Amino acid sequence: MGRRRQLYEGKAKILFEGPEPGTLVQYFKDDASAGNGAKKGIITGKGVLNNRISEHLMLRLHDIGIPTHFIRRLNMREQLIREVEIIPLEVVVRNVAAGSLTQRLGIQEGTRLPRPIIEYYYKNDALNDPMVSEEHITAFGWACPHDMEDIVALSMRVNDFLCGLFMGIGIILVDFKLEFGRLFEGDNMRIVLADEISPDNCRLWDAKTSEKLDKDRFRKDMGKVEEAYQEVAMRLGILPEATNSDMKGPEVMQ
Ligand code: C5P
Repeated sequence: MGRRRQLYEGKAKILFEGPEPGTLVQYFKDDASAGNGAKKGIITGKGVLNNRISEHLMLRLHDIGIPTHFIRRLNMREQLIREVEIIPLEVVVRNVAAGSLTQRLGIQEGTRLPRPIIEYYYKNDALNDPMVSEEHITAFGWACPHDMEDIVALSMRVNDFLCGLFMGIGIILVDFKLEFGRLFEGDNMRIVLADEISPDNCRLWDAKTSEKLDKDRFRKDMGKVEEAYQEVAMRLGILPEATNSDMKGPEVMQ
């Protein structure tokens, strides 16, 4: 790809203008952050792995009829996506108690939840992504009740499918975060899955040993972070053939 205009830089990804109207290029960085940027670091090769893992999962979800923003992977660190209007929500689905659920409610880590639980967080760094209810979301117009019906139905289908997919490779899908966007096609609007699905935004535990195979290893300074991401990619059957040249940064046109 030639030089492109950068539209947005987030903590783990950069968005560039795409080659055609209505498309964007999503570039995966090695930068890692936790606690809303309080802890920062580099996980070498993470961008390459997350690009591949997210491609794989988005394609499998597309196969079962989940609409996504993903078009195709372009190279080791970039994928072509559809431009969507991002709904400012982090949608978390939980199957097993971990992370903020254990802290907030005192439920022991590892407790299997009686049913999958959905939580919403308002995407706002300045406010530390506060948890919100559907009442807040519809009252403040971040999404309408019809959007929320789609978001809940899609999130539950993604959870059912990914639980099975990961269980098939000996991994428990503890919880994960999704983002959704509005895709406009002529007069029509559809809610589609956006962002990425990777060990950066899922908790993945080995089914036999409960070993953590996700970003918690970085958050909790457990070491072997790259190895955990590689293990997930390997079990999914998609370990990329990384080379040194893939590790260089993006070319940015201001
Ligand atoms: O921290 P918490 O337990 O609420 O996280 C739930 C899930 O959402 C975890 O899988 C975590 O990786 C993901 N998450 C995320 N981005 C955030 C907050 C949480 O991907 N800003």
